[in-house]
Amino acid sequence: MRARTAPRPIADLWDWQREAACRGMDISVFYSPTGERGAQRRGREAGARAVCLGCPVRAQCRQFALALGEQHGVWGGLTESEREEITRLSRAVTLAG
Ligand code: SF4
Repeated sequence: MRARTAPRPIADLWDWQREAACRGMDISVFYSPTGERGAQRRGREAGARAVCLGCPVRAQCRQFALALGEQHGVWGGLTESEREEITRLSRAVTLAG
């Protein structure tokens, strides 16, 4: 039987966002519109990464997005495809383990 513990307050899961460099920014900096490709997409991602680079909660943000399997936008300086690759490699290592 599993030991019962009090549920963790939901706010704890999001507390790190109080320190986010992107707090209050327009989300279009971090999320490409559907179908955006090429130079426009790369430019948007570069702009988002520049914000993330100086963010004091970058590690928490990155961890959060990876843990939740966040599929859209730039989180913690990682693009969607970079997070997919990390998740894929992580699964491969686990299976090989
Ligand atoms: S790392 Fe980037 S996306 Fe994450 S909270 Fe900081 S500025 Fe926002």
